[in-house]
Amino acid sequence: MSEEYRSMWKDLGLDLEAHDALLAALGQGYKDVFMTQENRPKGMEYFDFVVSQVHGLRVKELLDEKAAGRKVIGSFCVFVPEEIVRAADATLVGLCTGADFATEEVEKYLPRNTCALIKSAFGFKLGKVCPYIESADMIVGENTCDGKKKSYETLGKLVPNLYVMDLPQVKTAGGRELLRTEYLRFKTAVEDLTGVKIDAARLKKGIEIVNNKRKAIHRLAKLRKADPAAISGLDALLINQVFFYDDPVRFTNSVNRICDELEARIAKSEGVFPKGAPRVLLSGCPMAVPNWKLPWIIETSGAVIVGEESCVGERGTRNLTEPKGETVDDLMDAIVERHFKVDCAIFTPNPDRIAHVKEMAGDYKADGVIHYSLQFCQPYIMESIPVEKELESARIPTLRIETDYGSEDAGQLKTRIQAFIEMIGSK
Ligand code: SF4
Ligand code: SF4
Repeated sequence: MSEEYRSMWKDLGLDLEAHDALLAALGQGYKDVFMTQENRPKGMEYFDFVVSQVHGLRVKELLDEKAAGRKVIGSFCVFVPEEIVRAADATLVGLCTGADFATEEVEKYLPRNTCALIKSAFGFKLGKVCPYIESADMIVGENTCDGKKKSYETLGKLVPNLYVMDLPQVKTAGGRELLRTEYLRFKTAVEDLTGVKIDAARLKKGIEIVNNKRKAIHRLAKLRKADPAAISGLDALLINQVFFYDDPVRFTNSVNRICDELEARIAKSEGVFPKGAPRVLLSGCPMAVPNWKLPWIIETSGAVIVGEESCVGERGTRNLTEPKGETVDDLMDAIVERHFKVDCAIFTPNPDRIAHVKEMAGDYKADGVIHYSLQFCQPYIMESIPVEKELESARIPTLRIETDYGSEDAGQLKTRIQAFIEMIGSK
């Protein structure tokens, strides 16, 4: 990385030595996982570039935007509505929570048996290695699972600008009202931060930009129904991960470009896996950058991942915000409506998610489902049992995995996954 970037990181208060180590590990991991794939679509070069610049050019862009008066807001969850952020000419970035860092330090603040995702957020802050956390003007924590909401009490003491958003846990009229109240409160907070009054025209524009991003992802998802698969699950996951931090308009154009290429591949029956390769649907906890362990094991064991029922995937992107109405109230209602459909496991009961996993397995012609939970994640571990029961009653083979970000269990996971793939492949 150039001297310019090094001084940028220094100005942000990063620990340069720790940061160098993180980038080196990230770069090597990326090479091992992505660059060893064969016949990748050419359009992936853009996403490779974005990832290579995740701590470089993209951070510089954000800092340039800030210098021009634009605000940056960081988030950990798909319940933070990007439409509202965009409407105020601010930028929303997802904060990486996909790798262990500074674990010893983290465990001075959090119990050891906290999920890796929450620990990762703390590790990136405590280890001083995340330029996004350091450049954010506001970080939004959402009261979803118990682990997150309790950890925000501590995180609020480590970052000066944490904004906590309450969220419903039930899909009732009261739950919807709570979400509406919280989104209105968030809109005011964003207006206060940016000095921009959000009117109907601004909200419409924000909705359009974010919907276009989602539509491009829907197009990509549809193309993954093809056999042979025109794109690997790893590459499709990467695109879903980049969704959270790239410039939205540029991202939308790049996804549409790769979709053009995939359509041409499909017309020629060209694939990255042989026709008839076992097809797997991944379901469960979100996989943030650089959490690629499980998909890498699956796809190097001969199966192709055809969809992700996850917040970094279809759970996060599947519905559009209907831009109906002409007033701020109408449009805010539309944003509430759209997000209230997200079927995160923090909701109880949560039958929509179980129905959605089954529906996706059918739509993407999956031969089996691998349910992935992070260790100590009560909502998804608990829900994996009814998910498995429902799928098995529909004769869809299911494998439940609990893991973390470490590599210690990779061998054991590989053995279990190979056996599962062999079983679904022989059906
Ligand atoms: S799984 Fe739930 S808490 Fe996590 S990002 Fe998704 S909606 Fe938010
Ligand atoms: S829902 Fe699960 S994976 Fe997500 S933060 Fe909570 S415990 Fe961790």
